[in-house]
Amino acid sequence: MKLPLAYYGDAVLRKKTARVDEINDELRQLVHDMDETMEANNGCGLAAPQVHRSISLFVTRIPRYIDEKTVLPGEFRVFINPKIVSYSEEVWELDEACLSIPKLRGNVIRPVKVTFQATDLEGNTFVEEFVGFDARCMMHENDHLNGVLYIDRLSPKGKKEFEPLLRELKKKYSQK
Ligand SMILES: [Zn+2]
Repeated sequence: MKLPLAYYGDAVLRKKTARVDEINDELRQLVHDMDETMEANNGCGLAAPQVHRSISLFVTRIPRYIDEKTVLPGEFRVFINPKIVSYSEEVWELDEACLSIPKLRGNVIRPVKVTFQATDLEGNTFVEEFVGFDARCMMHENDHLNGVLYIDRLSPKGKKEFEPLLRELKKKYSQK
């Protein structure tokens, strides 16, 4: 089932999430619904607060670009109680977007590599290094679990440009 998204201005996006204590049917259903929600919105990652659940969980499905004509669907990954173990000093910048902040894109500097520790849906804890776009996507989703949005990481100039647009979004989505 596709779930309704939380948009900028919703307090759930600014809360620090609670740890997941148990992997049960309810959680498995949530993960399944998050995958459908992500796919329906053409996202490559989705964090639980974005579907109004303040728990430490995000999912990703990052497409693989083989060549100009071939894009393979990404592998579905689940990160429960993720933790950044280490990250590279080397950084790069790229435009980011967020399903919770429609129509905007902004330039964010992030490490090139990151190593995560997390638990998968089978309850196995893994430690894995991610590079480039994968690393960026995962750090973006992990930020959501701490109430951080990519717009917090824009340059001062970028933040200034975003101000009026964010004010409008906030007005639109908090009037419900
Ligand atoms: Zn996001």
